[in-house]
Amino acid sequence: MSKTILIIEDNRLNYKLLADFLGVHGYVTKNLHSGLTAVSCVHEWRPFLILLDIQLPDISGFDVMELLKQDPLSATVPVIAVTACAHAEEQHLAKSKGFHGYMTKPVDMKALLDIVRAFEGPEISSHNGIKL
Ligand code: MN
Repeated sequence: MSKTILIIEDNRLNYKLLADFLGVHGYVTKNLHSGLTAVSCVHEWRPFLILLDIQLPDISGFDVMELLKQDPLSATVPVIAVTACAHAEEQHLAKSKGFHGYMTKPVDMKALLDIVRAFEGPEISSHNGIKL
């Protein structure tokens, strides 16, 4: 069972806050500053969950989501949007794009832990038919 979470976040401090917190709770985190290589990194690292910043330097988080959905393996990994934008419109857009959750910055760490634990369970991997 994978304990790895991929965090696609261009702000180093934001990444470090999440990585330190999740590390304390037994998770392994990997960081990408850009989503351009997200699909190949999912193949390499096999995360069970992806936290995806929406405001990224090269392509937006929504475009990264499109890339992830085009690949059979990465399409099975749940993705949580993490964004500074709290507009209901963006939240609706995220739902329509297939995000499994939506968190606004600053991230509520207890809520994050609840989400991470909810997606960690064996029912997710067996549901997808893929051992992560
Ligand atoms: Mn950003």
